[in-house]
Amino acid sequence: MSRLDSFIRRLSAQRDVLNHISDEARQIDGVILEIGLGNGRTFDHLRALFPDHRIIAFDRALGSHASSTPSAEDLVIGEIRETAQPYVGVNAALVHADIGTGYDDKDAITLTWLPQLAAGALAKGGMAASGLPLEHPDLEPLPLPSTVDVGRYFLYRRR
Ligand code: SAM
Repeated sequence: MSRLDSFIRRLSAQRDVLNHISDEARQIDGVILEIGLGNGRTFDHLRALFPDHRIIAFDRALGSHASSTPSAEDLVIGEIRETAQPYVGVNAALVHADIGTGYDDKDAITLTWLPQLAAGALAKGGMAASGLPLEHPDLEPLPLPSTVDVGRYFLYRRR
């Protein structure tokens, strides 16, 4: 599979996973954390799916399209490992994390803190969707929609 194929599958998986959980996650009170704002495409999709939820987005630098940039109070700039710590205990309804790099060594470092952060930020019953696996005793893996290959994206519910 070319990198273009892989990129297309990743974006399709993001959309399909977020659509798949939206009815259930919409019923959960709490903020949504968008871990890795990037261009803002998934932020834009999340705000369409969850118009009544506050979405707080994190990135080390602002690089989103002007049409998909959160308001200043919902944007947290800096290294997520540090900037998201104050959100542990916030009882989030949903954490969406898209900060995989495709480099195993870099992703391994991210995975030393991301699962704990996601589990700590979520409310009981809250959901996490991630491009990297979030192995944590408080996160129960959930089945993916049939259109998404196993290992392409990851879905969890906070126990
Ligand atoms: N989902 C986004 C979209 O649809 O446009 C794309 C996200 S992009 C793949 C990942 C983003 O996460 C990048 O903008 C990068 O700067 C940010 N990022 C990755 N690791 C980070 C970290 N440890 N701290 C802060 N930002 C990080």
